[in-house]
Amino acid sequence: MGNMIKRFFSGYFAIPFIQRMGIAFILGIVVGLIVGEPITVIEPLGDLFLRLLMMVVIPIIIFTLITAMKKLTPSQLGRVGGQTLGLYILTTAIAIIIGLTLANVFNPGSGLSLPEDAEMDPEKAPSIIDVFLNLVPENVFEAMANAEVLQVLVFAIIFGIALAFVRESASEEIKKGVDMIFSITETAAEAMFKIVRGVMEYGVIGVFALLAVTFGEAGPEALYEFGILIAAFVAAVLIHMILIYGVVLNGIILKKSPIKILKGSKEALLAAFATRSSASVLPISMRAADESLKVDEKIYSFTLPLGATINMDGTAMYQGVAAIFAANLVGETLTMAEQLTIVTTTVLASIGTAGVPGSGLIMLSMVLTQLGLPLGVVAFVAGVDPILDAFRTMNNIAGDLSVTSVVGKLNNSIDLESGVWTDSEKNQS
Ligand code: ASP
Repeated sequence: MGNMIKRFFSGYFAIPFIQRMGIAFILGIVVGLIVGEPITVIEPLGDLFLRLLMMVVIPIIIFTLITAMKKLTPSQLGRVGGQTLGLYILTTAIAIIIGLTLANVFNPGSGLSLPEDAEMDPEKAPSIIDVFLNLVPENVFEAMANAEVLQVLVFAIIFGIALAFVRESASEEIKKGVDMIFSITETAAEAMFKIVRGVMEYGVIGVFALLAVTFGEAGPEALYEFGILIAAFVAAVLIHMILIYGVVLNGIILKKSPIKILKGSKEALLAAFATRSSASVLPISMRAADESLKVDEKIYSFTLPLGATINMDGTAMYQGVAAIFAANLVGETLTMAEQLTIVTTTVLASIGTAGVPGSGLIMLSMVLTQLGLPLGVVAFVAGVDPILDAFRTMNNIAGDLSVTSVVGKLNNSIDLESGVWTDSEKNQS
């Protein structure tokens, strides 16, 4: 018996990690669709994966960012910040345009009609002043406890810069203290990556359970009923990922084969699809940036937490497609001018969308209100939304990692001669 178990495990671990993950991914979808609703009994197995990831999110941001501040001067940080924000917003706007184009071609919703309008309060866009005020935590421990990624990011940057200044002090004692803190955070960040590696091993089961539950709950009927909406959206996601991230950012700017960036991000993309949460996937994206895409910590420790909270290309694209879907349901045609308003509204709505499952659907109400379309659409698509959410979250993460690599290149902080960039077939994990 003991021998059999041993043989099983050595056989299991002999299969490359990404293949195990891929099998779990496909099996999860198939089992979920076959078993249906009763598969929800395995939900705790998926929740455990989410919890394990969330457990390391805040520590990993703090440790990597403080360490990064050792190398980054405030002016470099300003430049990196400007480039990152610019690229995040530009790629999001392009994503919406691709989404709108595909939605105009597929015309999702034209054969359907909206059931009774469900009551719901529309989300309101927060004012610009609130957005800025909210960046500063009132209580840093509360921000950490509530996993407020942006607030923790801001505090870690300020603390890191303060440490760098304190190091200039005349006192040898203080200089030594600062170096000690930096070496502790560097070591702790390494330890966090070790934890992530372990969590990923469990992720094989976690991904299976999460996908089985998502597809089990939605069921094959939803896939059928909302088939055109799903097809339009998935086509838009694939085009955006291949054309913009692959060909433009990776091929033209990084001058590497377009597939590399997606290959280097594959574990993070699978996890994003399964967890449907950009925030939870952050530790895995950071590991991909560090070990596979070979971006310097001083870049990704800043760009990735920022991206996980504000850069949502998939979400914005989804909101655009869903707006056309809503218009078709009620037999309205959106004019070109109205479609252009969608671009600005959805960029803002996607920035306001939290990196947690389903939040893009809630923010959709803001876009629909702006266009005078029925809010009942939100309730109508809720059943199939987890499947769309899986695709949009995967797109969101691909966007964060692609822009991170480009910002790495713009700042000479990516090693394009190692990691996935030179690796032909070798397994990355
Ligand atoms: N689930 C998405 C994310 O975490 C947000 C959304 O619902 O669109 O990136």
